[in-house]
Amino acid sequence: MFAYGRSNFTWNGTLRELQGSWTERRGPAMTAPASCSSGLEVLLSALQNGGDVESTLNILNVLDELLSAGTDRRIHYMISKGGSEALLIALVKAGRSFSPNYTIVLPLLHLLAKVGHRDRRIGVKAEEAGAVLLTLNLLRQNAQHGSRAAACLWAIQVFCSSVSTANLIGANQGLDVIYCLIPQCSPKHLPTIKAAIDAFAALLCTKANVSSVVSKGYVSGLLRLYEDWHSKGSEHVAIRHALLCCLHKVTHSTAGRQAVLCHGGIRLLYETTQTCLLSKGLESLVELSVQLMRKCLPKTPLPLTSDQSAYTFPLPGGPHAVPQMDAEPDESSDESDDDEEKPEADYDDDLETDLNKLRLRPELDRPKELLPQYSRLCPELSHDFQELDLSSEPDESSTASSSSSSSDEEAGRLNSFPFHRSRRDRRRSTAPSDSETEAKGHTAAVSQLEARDFHSHSSILSTSPRFRTMVREARGEAPPGPRGGEQDDEEVDAEESHHRTMIDRLLERHGACIPHHDPRLYRAAAAKTTSIPGFSILAFPDFWGHLPPLGHEPMAPRKPNIQRQKVFEDVRRFVNADDIINQVVFDLEDSSLQCPSDSLRFFSKFECGNLRKAIQVRRYEYDLILNADANCNQHAQWFYFEVSNMVADVPYRFNVINCEKSNSQFNYGMQPVLYSVREALEGRPHWLRTGTEICYFRNHFCPARGRKRTTFYTLTFTITFKHNEDVCYMAYHYPHTYSALKAHLRGLQKSVDPAKVFFQQQNLCGTLAGNWCPVVTITACPASRGWRDMHQLRNRPCIVLTGRVHPGESNASWMMKGTLEFLCSSDPVAQSLREAFVFKLIPMLNPDGVINGTNRCDLNGEDLNRQWCKPDPVLSPTIYHAKGFLYYLNSIGRTPLVFCDFHGHSRKKNVFLYGCSVKETLWQSGSVVNTAGLKEDPGYRTIPKTLDRLAPAFSFNSCNYLVEKSRSATARVVVWREMGVLRSYTMESTHNGCDQGIYKGLQIGTRELEEMGVKFCHSLLSLTKDMKALYSRRISHINVLDHKSHNCFEDDEPPCVEEIEYSTDCPALKGTDLDSDVNSNMASSDEEDEGEEGHRRERHGRGGVGQSQQSSMKSRLFPHLMRQASNEALS
Ligand SMILES: [Zn+2]
Repeated sequence: MFAYGRSNFTWNGTLRELQGSWTERRGPAMTAPASCSSGLEVLLSALQNGGDVESTLNILNVLDELLSAGTDRRIHYMISKGGSEALLIALVKAGRSFSPNYTIVLPLLHLLAKVGHRDRRIGVKAEEAGAVLLTLNLLRQNAQHGSRAAACLWAIQVFCSSVSTANLIGANQGLDVIYCLIPQCSPKHLPTIKAAIDAFAALLCTKANVSSVVSKGYVSGLLRLYEDWHSKGSEHVAIRHALLCCLHKVTHSTAGRQAVLCHGGIRLLYETTQTCLLSKGLESLVELSVQLMRKCLPKTPLPLTSDQSAYTFPLPGGPHAVPQMDAEPDESSDESDDDEEKPEADYDDDLETDLNKLRLRPELDRPKELLPQYSRLCPELSHDFQELDLSSEPDESSTASSSSSSSDEEAGRLNSFPFHRSRRDRRRSTAPSDSETEAKGHTAAVSQLEARDFHSHSSILSTSPRFRTMVREARGEAPPGPRGGEQDDEEVDAEESHHRTMIDRLLERHGACIPHHDPRLYRAAAAKTTSIPGFSILAFPDFWGHLPPLGHEPMAPRKPNIQRQKVFEDVRRFVNADDIINQVVFDLEDSSLQCPSDSLRFFSKFECGNLRKAIQVRRYEYDLILNADANCNQHAQWFYFEVSNMVADVPYRFNVINCEKSNSQFNYGMQPVLYSVREALEGRPHWLRTGTEICYFRNHFCPARGRKRTTFYTLTFTITFKHNEDVCYMAYHYPHTYSALKAHLRGLQKSVDPAKVFFQQQNLCGTLAGNWCPVVTITACPASRGWRDMHQLRNRPCIVLTGRVHPGESNASWMMKGTLEFLCSSDPVAQSLREAFVFKLIPMLNPDGVINGTNRCDLNGEDLNRQWCKPDPVLSPTIYHAKGFLYYLNSIGRTPLVFCDFHGHSRKKNVFLYGCSVKETLWQSGSVVNTAGLKEDPGYRTIPKTLDRLAPAFSFNSCNYLVEKSRSATARVVVWREMGVLRSYTMESTHNGCDQGIYKGLQIGTRELEEMGVKFCHSLLSLTKDMKALYSRRISHINVLDHKSHNCFEDDEPPCVEEIEYSTDCPALKGTDLDSDVNSNMASSDEEDEGEEGHRRERHGRGGVGQSQQSSMKSRLFPHLMRQASNEALS
């Protein structure tokens, strides 16, 4: 406790008496009638009206006591009662005289600093009161007087909360006055020095002041000052921190960053930070220095000739249809994923609150006459199932193929070509392979592999470092283009016998037994896949196959300060270029490129591959640039490439330097996946989560040309390869190619029991590049051709599932794979589902994007999941025809019971659904529309609720049912609104893993993704009428786990432990806020020049206001902030 006054004045009276005395003295000048003003208002009024020194001091003393003791709410209350203005007026009165009375001025300045600190309008108020330049003048007069200067500086610091005030001070040489107060390292006047630096930093909130500071050369001065204070040992953290804050502010401008760079700032910060790292307690300095270095690293254009994708595709309609090269992206466009949430702030604005748009069904987007063409996609309706009688009544077989020939004609009219399932295929089909025999087969293969000749493997790998499967041979004999139809297996076999490659021999000896995967089928499928660059090489993992690893893969723990360490390594490229190689070792566009014999070799010219360039930075470090989406210049995120020529047991650092998302699950435990050819040959054909030292942060790269505002992020990870000279593949997520889908469908077709399962794959339409978009129909064959059974078949509700509209979301394909296999299986639940529903699956809505390794778009550079409102038949054929097919189902009264589009989510954990609900959207938006009268079937919640119980990876709490404007053209919303499908969903799967349920803490793998597909099917049982019967009769083997804790609420990740962006705010140093600085100065108030130590102690002894009096006074001054007892207003 302390007091200001130097007189013997002691507070003995009550506030009422004080008020009385003021009233007597001031009389009519009192601004507020006593009856309606609080005690505080009386004090403030007294303060600004001025009085004798002692009274004023007492008021200031009381105010300070009040404000120091309580919370910020008291100060805000005081501000609301005109406290700032009163203090400013009092300051101007006291400071204006020729020789100001500092006994009053000083406490006024202190109070102003405390109050102004919380008053956002203090700058404007100070300007209006004429206090700004007055304070600057007081500072000039007292430059040599420590505590007075400090008090002025604090006031100036708070005034600078207004840009105009800061500019006013800057225009009146305030920057120079204050800069002169910052000396080289000295142990004296530390609070004043700190106050000067803080005030200087505060002034740098305006562009004008920053450019003035830069042009006057103060930046180099600040750097030298920092160096000097730094060199004097590990003390003065607060001062060093404040200096860094000045630099931080300066570097908001390009000129400021330039100045820091020119004056050796990066080197200086790099070196000082190295020493800071050695001593404890300097974290805050390290943090700020790292931020500064990141900001100031010169912007470096990506080493590309063009930002445009290396893959361009001539769109139908001539060159005009090609999107503008290097066009500046539309800033207003929503850059977040259509299925990913936007920041909370603008989220509610995005909700659709127009009831008409929510409820009214728009007109058809095409003539009704165009719909009947899709009847061919309902083969189960026209099929006569004569083959059912085939076995019992063979004489009726003559007309067996009638239905397929009619669909031929329709297909011809559509200029598209259905896949045909030959009768021979059906006859040959074997019973579904059950997992037990598969497992046995696999074990046999493994044991066989264990006895392999290891040497021959290594020689194969070393003589053939480009260990790839050539697809050319197969392609050479295949009919040109995709329209030649599928070849029969016999033909493929014959072809292969002519072109036996090393791989074939390997396959015979070491091929793993992978369920539903046949490398030869894969190669045959790939031979007919059309890509922009004309891929002629297969990636080994796609060809050979992948088995999920046996164990679980926990999320990777984040190494403390990993980002900082990586940034240091990046900064070292600039300050110490001795070990920098900077050599391009791979260029997608330059196949003639020679790379050093000891560097890694990269390759990506295969399906889904998308590495564009690799640059060796250091001996064991590579920068990687991903290819932009075809016909486009952005969306880099997905990656898939081959790497070889490695040395075992050496950590290699990889930096993907042109990522575009502002955050990534790589910051939250996700690892990329890696596949080793050698491991596969040794019987472990696994994609494994691999990599250490993983982090994702904003970097200093910018586009090669144009797109100035684009920001890039680095994904960095370190891989230590197990084998020398291996061939490995790395990917963002488990790859799943278009050829894999085709081979898989073909395999499934062969595996189903045609007497039980109606399985037919057809072509929805041709894609832009001329690939097929498969549509699969799965249902149960009727028990007989009798009327009743056929009627039941033709009245089964439809379930429509789609996926992979976004090529980078390969998790969608793995879920789809699980769904397909389950629906074709002999599992009793699958059988029930087939009997209850007709499944229509379009597993890959964007084949061209998947094939060409794009992340987001189709070949026209558009996000296909934004085209559903009015899809272009030429440019977005798959969406146009998928929608057309849904219209058709609608038109024949077979509106799907469920529609679900499978996706991957890059920012969240778990698997969850987005649905559509009018009521929930209106509630969430706070809409005034009365929802009481609105009727809505709550059935949209049944599937998510069931999944929550059944599927370990699923999280009900992450689901939502809101209709956003920005999502109005997505499949989910259009199918819901235009087709009237109540249960229309997007199923989102994490790329990372789960944070709830039994998979908590684990990364998701293909096994879990496929399981999710199976569980999705299980959840559909909840929609069947005889669900209870099904449960009791058939589902007993399904583990209905109640494994969830329902109180968890998943949201976006919390902020990353390290700043991903360059921070714009200068972080405050703990324990050095303005208040504590001011308080310490007040304690030593004016002692230097007046030498009144003794006096001050004496004052302390007297103590000013007694404790009890004070509290009673507080209660009156802040009536509504105090306890009930003090609620009576002071009058
Ligand atoms: Zn998606």
